[in-house]
Amino acid sequence: MRRIDEVLSRPIPIGVPTAPPATSASSSSDAVLLNRHRKEKDAVLLNRHRKEKDAECSLCGGLGWVRLEVPYGHAEFGQARPCPCGLVARRRLQRIDAVFGFTPQLQAESFATLIPIEGSEEAIEATHHYVAHPSGWLYLWGPVGDGKTKLLAIAINALRASGYEAVFCVVPELLSYLRATFEPDSPVRFDETFDYLKSAPLLGLDDLGAESPSPWVNELLYELFGWRYRAELPTIVTSNARPELIRDPRLASRLRDVRLCTVAYCGRTDVRQLCR
Ligand SMILES: [Zn+2]
Repeated sequence: MRRIDEVLSRPIPIGVPTAPPATSASSSSDAVLLNRHRKEKDAVLLNRHRKEKDAECSLCGGLGWVRLEVPYGHAEFGQARPCPCGLVARRRLQRIDAVFGFTPQLQAESFATLIPIEGSEEAIEATHHYVAHPSGWLYLWGPVGDGKTKLLAIAINALRASGYEAVFCVVPELLSYLRATFEPDSPVRFDETFDYLKSAPLLGLDDLGAESPSPWVNELLYELFGWRYRAELPTIVTSNARPELIRDPRLASRLRDVRLCTVAYCGRTDVRQLCR
């Protein structure tokens, strides 16, 4: 199976809009038209390049789906399933990244680019360990701005590079998105998105506790964590709050389950004593 990073990290040599060059265009409107034409041409070339890239798979030819060669009458005769090349998962992640806050900057984070700050040693070591053995839950907590999100992004990127379908969500943005699925003109259904997140092979949730509380939010998060807890699905969480202080006591008790969840502190100022 081709690794996701091999595909996602390839440089795309075309498609970067360029400023209009010094030309003999007689007016600024000519320059605008010329620039627009170039952008359109770049977009066409970029699309073609993406299709060629996807078409590299000899199994699915860039469709992402394959049919099993089974005899007529077999339970899976005629059924399509995702190609082992992982194209379906990669496309799904690209769509999800755009709405759940996994920015290009975060997607570029790696252990190689990490500049460790004082106080983050425990969290960095725990993240290294989790990437090498991605099972159970990892809970990174500490003050705002001390690198938890970066560590989560590093873990997600490293796990994707190992072939995991690892999802990154900023919790408040996830909740806004789920709320919007109830709008009459929403192109996606709530169940579809929420069920996918509940059972995502690996889920990273950034900034738990920053959401505005409400009974709906509490039940939603409880169901999401409850499902992943029962199935022991790999999950990484960042928060400013120590696990005991997470608002919903049912959720807090799951995060304190040492059998499943590793807790690591990340912060310049050691506020652990103050939080007790
Ligand atoms: Zn394929």
